[in-house]
Amino acid sequence: MPQLRLPWGLHERLWPIKYIVFLGLFAVSLHSLAQAEVLAEEEPFKTAIILKFARDWPFVLYVGALLAANLFIERFYCRYLCPLGAALAIPARLRMFEWLKRHKECGSPCQRCGVECPVQSIHPEGNINPNECISCMHCQTLYWDDHRCPHMIQRRLKRERAQAMKPALPKHVTDPPLSQSDDPNNPLVAGGIVAAPPVRPPKDQGGS
Ligand code: SF4
Ligand code: SF4
Repeated sequence: MPQLRLPWGLHERLWPIKYIVFLGLFAVSLHSLAQAEVLAEEEPFKTAIILKFARDWPFVLYVGALLAANLFIERFYCRYLCPLGAALAIPARLRMFEWLKRHKECGSPCQRCGVECPVQSIHPEGNINPNECISCMHCQTLYWDDHRCPHMIQRRLKRERAQAMKPALPKHVTDPPLSQSDDPNNPLVAGGIVAAPPVRPPKDQGGS
C-alpha cells in the first residue's frame, strides 16, 4: 500500500507528542502507579496482543483507528505516540559519534535521502534527527552509491573523465612483466633452479 508523507510542518508538530505522553505518564507514576497504569492504555498492545481485542468497544475502536493510520502512514504510532520510543530517544542525544554521514549537497539542493527516509527523520536542510532515525541505513547506502547519489555520480564522472584523458601507453609498457619462470634469459631458469617454460617447436613455415 502506498505510504503517505505528511507535510513537514505537520510532521514536526506531531513529533513532540510522544515526549509529552512519556513525561505525563512518568509524572503521574510518581503520584500514583495505579493511575499511571490506567493511562498507559494509550499503548495499544494490551488490547491488540494480550487481550486479542476481547475488550470494551472504546478500546477496540482506539486500536482499530491506530491500525488504520499505520496502514497509510509508516509507523504512525511509533513515530508520534509511543512513550517507550520517546524514553529510548532521550539517551540517544548523548551519542559520542556522528556516524550517519552527509555530503555538503545533502538538503541543498539534493533532497533524495529526505524523500526516501521511511520515517521522515531527515530535515529539509539535510541534517538527520538521530532521535527519530530507526537506523535502517537507507540514506547511508545512498551516500556511497555512485549511480544514485548526485555527489557520488559527479565524483565517478570526474574519475572516468580523468581515466579517458590518460595518454595511451605503448603495448610493451602495458604488458605485464615476465615472471621468473617465464623468462628464458633468467640464469636461474638456465641452471634448472626454476622450472623453465615448455619449449614449443617453431611453426612449420610451409617451405619444405
Ligand atoms: S542522495 Fe547523496 S547528496 Fe542526495 S541527500 Fe542523499 S547522500 Fe545527500
Ligand atoms: S538511517 Fe534510515 S531512518 Fe535513519 S535517517 Fe537514514 S534513511 Fe532515515
